[in-house]
Amino acid sequence: MPLMPHEDRMLPPCATIGIMGGGQLGRMMAMAAASLGYHVHIFTPEKDCPAAEVARYVTVAPYEDVEAVEAFARSVDVMTLEFENIPYKAAQAAQAVKPFYPSPEIVACAQHRGWEKQFATDAGVPTPNYQIADSYEGLLRAVEHVGTPCIIKTTTMGYDGKGQYRVLDASQCADAWQALGMREVIIEAFVPFVAEASVMVARGQDGTMHTFPVTRNEHEGGILRTSYVPCGLSVTTHTALEHAACAMAQRAELVGLLAFEFFILADGSICFNEMAPRPHNSTHWTMDACNVSQFEQLMRICAGLPLKKPTLRATCRMVNLIGDDMEQLTKWHHDPHAHVHVYGKAECREGRKMGHVNIVGDNL
Ligand code: AMP
Repeated sequence: MPLMPHEDRMLPPCATIGIMGGGQLGRMMAMAAASLGYHVHIFTPEKDCPAAEVARYVTVAPYEDVEAVEAFARSVDVMTLEFENIPYKAAQAAQAVKPFYPSPEIVACAQHRGWEKQFATDAGVPTPNYQIADSYEGLLRAVEHVGTPCIIKTTTMGYDGKGQYRVLDASQCADAWQALGMREVIIEAFVPFVAEASVMVARGQDGTMHTFPVTRNEHEGGILRTSYVPCGLSVTTHTALEHAACAMAQRAELVGLLAFEFFILADGSICFNEMAPRPHNSTHWTMDACNVSQFEQLMRICAGLPLKKPTLRATCRMVNLIGDDMEQLTKWHHDPHAHVHVYGKAECREGRKMGHVNIVGDNL
């Protein structure tokens, strides 16, 4: 790994960072980029998306439009993504023109629940017992092999608890197969976890690697509801989480951010769930309770600036504003400890992430 001095590759102010995807993560990345003096160009299939509102340039085109992707890449100095399901071909086409972080290979790996678990295994990180099936007969065999209860998930395109089916006994397999669209699935043993935690790893162009403080997460119906720092886990578990995440990031030769989600078992051991090659909802607390936010850190990586070693400034609880939670916005605006972040989505739907609140200095 060449260790060039940072100064040789720092982007000057007014350089342009390209972001594929136009959601709330892109919005918060664009705001961090602006603070550092960079312009942002958003590539999005959806007009009027949360990121477009705060970006200098916007291209609206499908990810499959290779010519549009290449034109976008030519117009920027460096690229990253906020939407992890961009097609591999689009990431490759972009990377052929300008630097693209993280690499398309990492992005592709994180898009497939089977591949990322295999990658964890190769790095020596434990995962739930699992099998892949692409037929109904295969699913029946896999459920028998893994045992019940188990969780059946589509191997690709699942998020926020979508594309998942919990199976208590094998008689539910037919319903699960139908409900998930009769496509390739992963059958995971149900993990009797006592906690869920995530670790965000940042790795720069020069190989400098830092983790953000470990976050403990609570989900409801498969959607992240609350995150806590400090995580309150034992030192042994904490160390195991950091080691596992760093081992995987190093092995992937990451440049960018890679978020890792883990289950914690009653004996304190850890089990890998999934990873995301981008800023992560569970790390939003860094906007208000850390010396560097995950969004600023990613922009620093893209621009070749030195990374900051993340330090927790205060205890923090991050609460997602999902669907109707927006009715409580006024309450949060009155709370002097609450930092409110709203994503500017016009339509409020059930299960839709509309914003989040960081309650800093919270008595945990
Ligand atoms: P995922 O989209 O895989 O992160 O799943 C969403 C949530 O469902 C997780 O955060 C867990 O709360 C739960 N979950 C997913 N997989 C499992 C599993 N194998 N065992 C127990 N709970 C799970």
